[in-house]
Amino acid sequence: MTVQVLFAAKPERWLEYETPLNKALKNAGVDAHVSCDIPSADVDYIVYAPNSSVQDFSVFPKVKAVLSLWAGVETIAPNPTLNVPLARMVDHGLSQGMKEWVTGHVLRHHLGMDAHIANPNHRWEPIAPPLAEQRSVTVLGLGELGRVCAQTLAHLGFNVSGWSRSAKVIEGVHCFHGDAGLKAALDGAEIVVLLLPDTAATENVLNAERLSWLAKGAAIINPGRGPLVDDDALLAALDKGQVGHATLDVFRIEPLPQDHAFWAHPKVTVTPHIASETRAWTASQCIAENIRRGKACEPFLHLVDRDAGY
Ligand code: NAP
Repeated sequence: MTVQVLFAAKPERWLEYETPLNKALKNAGVDAHVSCDIPSADVDYIVYAPNSSVQDFSVFPKVKAVLSLWAGVETIAPNPTLNVPLARMVDHGLSQGMKEWVTGHVLRHHLGMDAHIANPNHRWEPIAPPLAEQRSVTVLGLGELGRVCAQTLAHLGFNVSGWSRSAKVIEGVHCFHGDAGLKAALDGAEIVVLLLPDTAATENVLNAERLSWLAKGAAIINPGRGPLVDDDALLAALDKGQVGHATLDVFRIEPLPQDHAFWAHPKVTVTPHIASETRAWTASQCIAENIRRGKACEPFLHLVDRDAGY
């Protein structure tokens, strides 16, 4: 029987996804009808972005799973009308994009590139940067994205530490976990990358006390989610020099309001939530594989633990 797949995302996304999604489903051997407009009583799967008009899942009596186009599910996981499995996006394009963005921004701070990109007084100061092995970088979050970023930085030679909820073993990375491991992970870090999900347990994980554990002048790079950082504590740490620079891609309110202090702060770089995005061709394969699994009564991939919130 033909599987009915509702594409529930911003209308412009459909233009990107229509061809790749149909092709990926065909390649996966799934007979499917994918559309933005299917009677709710007939829908088997929902391909979903939280900014779509669909917010009440109780109107889909037959739905078997909701397949998120986003890796971060903080606005979907708590939805009380959602009573079927929720899978999040794990996609090669997303991991590769994040690896490139994080590596680029780590290297910017490590090499001190800003001093040469903007040098209005033509100062000749031949100070070579240290080698990567003399630079400690900590990645908070060692999931799909944090792990590849930590591994890439370790391959470049950085002295990398990582932190997660459960214990991990990653070659070349000093792994710490749980509340007890956070101090060791952050102690003396010169660059911190945040790749944690936004949950009740991770809110303000970088607060004033934890910022004080870092090396003086440390750089913060946040492509995770805005609430991971206590904004006021970060601004205070920047102003007193405890933090040397913050590169922020995500914010509590997006777009970042024009009057927010981050825009004007000389030690803050704002990027507009572009660290990495789901790519239609690779993401469609992830979606198609989960629909194939659903049809074949096999376990879904990348299921969200609704209690943990990620
Ligand atoms: P993931 O695979 O779910 O990994 C999350 C990691 O965080 C895991 O290592 C997890 O530990 C750890 N973690 C969760 N709660 C924790 C806690 N309380 N204490 C310590 N560690 C904790 O997620 P992902 O795919 O790597 O994505 C991470 C986040 O990146 C997403 O949630 C999203 O917010 C963000 N993101 C941003 C962009 C962008 O463009 N800016 C793009 C994609 C994603 P365990 O391994 O022990 O479970």
